[in-house]
Amino acid sequence: MSGLRTDTARSPRLTWSPSRRARYHPVTTTKQRAGQLRALRWAQRSLCAGCGEHVPSSSRLKRYDPAYPTFDHVTTRSTGGGRTLGNGLLKHQRCNQQRANRAPTGCDLVWLEFVTARLSMRPRSFKPTFKGGVRNLR
Ligand SMILES: [Zn+2]
Repeated sequence: MSGLRTDTARSPRLTWSPSRRARYHPVTTTKQRAGQLRALRWAQRSLCAGCGEHVPSSSRLKRYDPAYPTFDHVTTRSTGGGRTLGNGLLKHQRCNQQRANRAPTGCDLVWLEFVTARLSMRPRSFKPTFKGGVRNLR
């Protein structure tokens, strides 16, 4: 009779539940992150939103490679932007780092509008993520 804690009185509100996770951590799993990047890659035709060059596949690069594909938060994380598709662009790691936590430029906003429009007209046959489709598109 060990391992299972039965005294929930200490922190009754901190038990894990799917709804809590959905509220505070909209996207957490590696699978979902990969799906988001795949959707963005499709929407942007593998072009970087920072420099317009081709973004190679992550499987071909090391994580520290400057050309590694990353998720750029248009509304920065430091100002409360979440990792949702409505707030994301595909960029090289170097282009993402170059912007750091500065406010989005007009170019970023145009890209975001384009990507959002393209994702919303995405054909049903195209399944950019695991089953369940793209989450957090808003
Ligand atoms: Zn770039």
